[in-house]
Formats: sequence, structure tokens, C-alpha cells
Amino acid sequence: MELEPVIGLEVHAQLLTASKMFCGCSADYSGAPANTHVCPVCLGMPGSLPVINQTAVEYTILTALAFHCEIPEFAKFDRKNYHYPDLMKGYQISQYDLPLSRAGYVLIDDAGAPKRIGVRRVHLEEDTAKLFHVDDTSWIDVNRSGVPLMEIVSEPDMRSVEEARLYSMKLRQILRYLGVCSGDMEKGAMRFEANISLRPKGSDKLSATRVEIKNLNSLRAMVHATEYEIARQTKILQSGGTVEQETMGWDEVRNTTYTQRSKEEAHDYRYFPEPDLPRLQVERKWVDDLRARLPELPDEKSARLMNESGLSAYDTGVITAEREIAAYYDRAVQAGQARSVDAKAIANWVTGELFRLMKETNAEIDAVKIAPAQIPDLIALVNAGTISNTIAKTVFEEMYQTGADAPAIVAAKGLAQISDRGALESIVEKVLAENPKQVAEYRSGKEPIAKFLVGQVMKATKGQANPALANELVMRKLKGD
Ligand code: ADP
Ligand code: MG
Ligand code: ZN
Repeated sequence: MELEPVIGLEVHAQLLTASKMFCGCSADYSGAPANTHVCPVCLGMPGSLPVINQTAVEYTILTALAFHCEIPEFAKFDRKNYHYPDLMKGYQISQYDLPLSRAGYVLIDDAGAPKRIGVRRVHLEEDTAKLFHVDDTSWIDVNRSGVPLMEIVSEPDMRSVEEARLYSMKLRQILRYLGVCSGDMEKGAMRFEANISLRPKGSDKLSATRVEIKNLNSLRAMVHATEYEIARQTKILQSGGTVEQETMGWDEVRNTTYTQRSKEEAHDYRYFPEPDLPRLQVERKWVDDLRARLPELPDEKSARLMNESGLSAYDTGVITAEREIAAYYDRAVQAGQARSVDAKAIANWVTGELFRLMKETNAEIDAVKIAPAQIPDLIALVNAGTISNTIAKTVFEEMYQTGADAPAIVAAKGLAQISDRGALESIVEKVLAENPKQVAEYRSGKEPIAKFLVGQVMKATKGQANPALANELVMRKLKGD
């Protein structure tokens, strides 16, 4: 029997708000000494009262709108009760039956065709403290407790590990475009839980049991754990067994899953409405204002670039991967329009030389010294025949190092192409005089040797001779004009 994987992901994303979800502590705890970003609220002291962080709510609604979700008029927070040492109050404030959003989707590129992955809901909750187990001792750092955490729950719409990977990357890209989450997995800003089941291929029924894998702290862990779990379930089903519903953890070091507990049900958490917080009435005007704040998102941007500039899917993909790079490219194209510089040429310089130098120097786009408008300036010099493409690469490197303008570099270094007929003619004559053997060979019928002589002219001019003119003059002299 051929089996098909069914995968649903729950993605947690820390929000880039200044303060925590329900108190005034700074949410930017990265690098801070343990237990320094704390107050009675996020320490879970009895009698302390939470206050809702408005920016966190707005970031969640923005995200949900980017995922084409519905934003219901009413939302509320609920207590999710469980006892674990990292949960300061013994409950987490989360959202149960009235989340901030529901029923959206994200598009992924499924071998060239777009595929919709349903987003069941995007809701808001708070992060937990962090535990460290060293030898026989456990340590707790409460700095992370109460940091706004957005949970994005997908429908079980993914049918392969690759689709789960593409979906996760798309989420991360959109969150970074919106500026609501850093997407920095090394710092734990994005974490995954994968739900996996198998069913006969072609079936449209969901399997009644699924396995949930928690603690997936990177894309790599999510991919490996999902692959591992699909293989494990395949083996059980093909030998006639049944897969138990359970919650598992992922052991990064040993590359295996381990059973944590049999899956808890919602009623195990004894959800009830958070009595210390008001219900939220989400006014339509507010939603409209937030919708107006949405930037151009990756799908729209890619479509526009392909239409406007005729870029390939590949070029579009690399240019739109990061919002800042796409903005840089857009500014360069805009500046190029006044000088009739082609967008495609700009794309080539950005994805070619610029990316190469950024990689070599390990630099991000905001550290690049070349201003976007300086790129069409350089291309204009090539188009006008002032410099060759090869020289342009040298100029570009210099621009990258110093931020100087292309025309200034060309002038200062005397790099302009030699297109002056008279000047080049005397160089050609000199080269032919210095290579009598090759000239004789040409005249006795070995015509391809002409290429060598043109090469010598290019060399004599350090690559600055106009190649077409150099070729023309060499041919003329050889033919005895
Ligand atoms: P909970 O984890 O709180 O029980 P849900 O039952 O709503 O929540 O489902 C959580 C996740 O499990 C969702 O991402 C959903 O897509 C996924 N899921 C549900 N049923 C299946 C299934 N049969 N196979 C794989 N994933 C599933
Ligand atoms: Mg779950
Ligand atoms: Zn606090």
C-alpha cells in the first residue's frame, strides 16, 4: 500500500515589541544577564495584574491579514493550565475559542505551481521562562517569561517534508517583511511543532491518530524530525501495526524522537477565560487601518518584478528573499529609468557582483556602501561604450570598497575605453610590428591567429581598447588596408 504523509505545523514566533506581553519589562532580553528583565507580573507573583500590549495585538492582526485571515469582531484571552517549572503562574495566558484571527492561507511554490496551505488561526500568547539543566542542577532564567508569542497553526495541508520546509520559509519571509519577528532561530525567535500522520495515498480522510513533535528549534530540526517520524510510521504501518497518538520530543544530538507523553486533550488544560483581562472588541476601522499598513508582500512583489522587468523566477526569488534587498533593487531600477538603464541589467549586477562581494565580505545589504542609484550610473558607462564589461567589474569592486561614483573612478584611474581610431591605430601597428611571426602565419592562411593579435592589443591597452574597434583595425592591417 502506498502511503502519503499528512503534515500540519504549529509555529511560534516571538514578536519584536519593545515591552513584554502583559508588563512593562523590555522584551529584548538577548544577551542580558539572567533574571534581569523581570517584574512581579512576569514572575507570576500573586496579586499582580496583566495589561495587554497593544502593539503585540496589532502585530498579530497584521500577520493574520498578510495570511488572508478573517479577523473576528471579538477576541479574548484564556488561561491554559499546566504545571511545569518554566511556567511561572502555573498557567499560560493564551487564546482558546476566540482567537484574534482564523481561516487564512499562505501560498508556497509547489514545483512551479502555487499551492495554498491553510492557516487555521494566528493567535497571541506569552512565552515561558527558560530552563537549563547542568549536571544535577536546574537553573531558570525568567527573562523570556511573558515575551509576546504569536502562534500560527496550519491546516494539515502539507504532503511532504519539502512542502513543510517551503511553508516554514515562507512564514519566516513574511514575518520579516512585516517586521514583526526577527525570524532568528539561533536565538529561539521562531520555533516549530510538527504534527504528522500517514494515510493511503489518494485518500481524502485524515488519520484519526497523529504524532506531535515538540521542541523543534530550527528549520533543520523540523525537517530531520519530520523525515524521521515519517520513516518510523511507515515502518509500523507496513508491518501491520498501528501508530499511537502521542507527543514526542526531538533529540538533536542523537537524531531521534522520544516519547514525552500520550497526547493531552484540550480538556486537560482546563481552559477558561482570563478573568484579569477584558475581552477585545476589534473595531473594523482598526482592522482597515492595519490593512493599509501592510507593505508590498513577497508574492505581490515577485509578480510585479516578473511583469515589469521580465526577471526570471530565479532572479525574482533571490531579489525578494529579503525586504531590504528588494527595496534596494527597486530604488536602483527607479534611478535607472531616467537613464534608460534596463531593469534586467540592474538585476544582473545585484544578483551577480553585488551578492558575490557581500558574501565574500560577509556583509548585509544595509552595510553596502554603493548607493542604489550608483548602479545604473555604472551600467550607463558600459552602455555608452566608455568602459567595457570587464573594466566595469573592476570599477564595481572599487565602488564596493569606497562608495565612490563610477564616473569618478573611471576618470581618476584613466579606465575609459580607447575608442579613438587614431590612438588605437598606432597601438595596433606597434603590436603587429612586434609580432612578425604571427602576422606571417596569418598571411600564409592561418586565419585564427588574428584572435591572438587582437588579444595582444587588448593586453597592451590593459583591456581598455574598444574590442570591436580593436578587432576591426587588426583585420584591416592584416589584410593590408
Ligand atoms: P492541538 O495540538 O491543540 O490538539 P489541533 O488538533 O487543532 O490542535 O491540531 C494541531 C495541528 O495538528 C494543526 O496544525 C493541524 O493541522 C494538525 N493536524 C490535525 N490533524 C492532523 C492529522 N491527522 N495529521 C497531521 N496533522 C494533523
Ligand atoms: Mg499542538
Ligand atoms: Zn515583567
